[in-house]
Amino acid sequence: MQKIAILYDAGQAILSTFDLDEVLNQILSILRDYFQLQNGAVLLLDKVKSELYVKAHLGRSNVDVGFRMSVGHGLTGAAAQLKRPVYAPDVSRDPRYFNRVPETKSEVAIPLMVREEVVGVLDFQSEQLNYFDSEMIDLLTLFSTQASLALENARLYSLERRRAEQLEAINAVARQTTAVLELDDLLRVVCNLLLDWFHIDHVAVLLVEGDGLRMRAHEGRLTSNLSVGAQLAPGAGLAARALSAGRSILENQVQNVPGYIAGFAETRSEVCVPLIFFGQKLGVLALDSAKPDAFDPDDIQPLESVADICAAAIQNANNFAGMKELAYIDGLTGIHNRRYFETRILEELERASRAQTRTSVIMIDIDDFKRVNDEVGHLLGDEVLRSVSSMMKQHLRKPDIVSRFGGEEFAIVLPDTSIENAWRVAEKLRRQVGEHHFAGVPRPVTISCGIAEAPTHGMTRDEIVAAADSALYAAKQAGRNRTVATGTRKEAPIER
Ligand code: GH3
Ligand code: MG
Ligand code: MG
Repeated sequence: MQKIAILYDAGQAILSTFDLDEVLNQILSILRDYFQLQNGAVLLLDKVKSELYVKAHLGRSNVDVGFRMSVGHGLTGAAAQLKRPVYAPDVSRDPRYFNRVPETKSEVAIPLMVREEVVGVLDFQSEQLNYFDSEMIDLLTLFSTQASLALENARLYSLERRRAEQLEAINAVARQTTAVLELDDLLRVVCNLLLDWFHIDHVAVLLVEGDGLRMRAHEGRLTSNLSVGAQLAPGAGLAARALSAGRSILENQVQNVPGYIAGFAETRSEVCVPLIFFGQKLGVLALDSAKPDAFDPDDIQPLESVADICAAAIQNANNFAGMKELAYIDGLTGIHNRRYFETRILEELERASRAQTRTSVIMIDIDDFKRVNDEVGHLLGDEVLRSVSSMMKQHLRKPDIVSRFGGEEFAIVLPDTSIENAWRVAEKLRRQVGEHHFAGVPRPVTISCGIAEAPTHGMTRDEIVAAADSALYAAKQAGRNRTVATGTRKEAPIER
């Protein structure tokens, strides 16, 4: 009776903490000091896999922490399956026993139960035959009820803490993403928040582009096999699988996944969560860990909440980019407007000054456009503006910046281009416009061009535009339908 009282007090002590490691330490010290046990282990149940794994052990390290066995296997597994203590007074005579340590002569396994549920097993071995008498087994069983409760409390507590942390994470992501409108900034913020909050080694955001996924951002400590901007083959890899299925995929042993594409060299576990906004698949969040078995299925739900917030923020950023783009487009012609020209030429001049290259600007004005309008009407006049715009777009290179400067005037920035080459470009355009037959317009439409070059004719935007504009004025003064380059007397012959 006294033994039970002392044991009861000891058991109460382990219930005074919620910290799992502390509970385990106390369980081990009671087993050692009170029961004088030398060899044993505390195993916990992994419900998903129906496996027991060693969480802590006493004495000789006959199995490593983390060692796993299926429920039903060995004496330990039998105790979990039968939900009652299993005793082998002579292990050599018990067919359930499987030999791990040659010295073991007797073994007892006692299930750890909370209500009717097994949560783990206490397992003890002795080098003596029939070491455990029925009184000791009864006392151990009694102790196991308190140990189970303490372990369960610690588990629930850590689960609660994790939940609270995940809620806080969802909140942080919601707070910090809604204000970020630039997509690249947003993706960086998302990656860093997930790294901070979800105890993982690497995060990547892949966005849908064409019929595949493109790596748009990643942060973390793993070695990347895919750089930002890399396009993944359509349908390949976990991310593509998650996207096409429209649901999260968790792989805790990626090396066993057929056709796995390693985005990061050290990844052992990965979760891919699709980014879906109102049914529209935008991409995938990929979370990687260098540890196997890093993710709990319970982590999926909070990650999906985070993914929903991210998807909305990404859509927002896309809308913003669309709106910004729209603000830079001329409504009549569909080419960029003067505001765009003025912003981009600043960037271009700055880049050119760093790279020490030349930049040319062509200002273009349609000749006698008032007369065109008067003769064919404003609507056909508009059509001429659209045709001239699309001819310019078609005949210029990709890096060239074409814009409608206003009315029937256009401005073009030619990066890394000398005034001599700009002259050729302007002349080609002038010839093309002059030779083009505009539907409904009985006479040829011609243009005049003025060119200037930075840094030769000006260093700032205003200087260079003013120089090109004066050259254009000179072209008009000289009779129109010609190109004038600042600082030269070179003029094209008038072709009327
Ligand atoms: P110049 O050779 O000296 O350039 O003669 P111009 O008639 O082209 O010059 P001016 O600047 O006097 O007239 C420009 C004309 O362009 C006046 C205006 O009606 C016309 N215009 C400006 N914007 C538009 C537009 O959006 N649509 C149409 N159809 N015409 C426009
Ligand atoms: Mg004009
Ligand atoms: Mg004009």
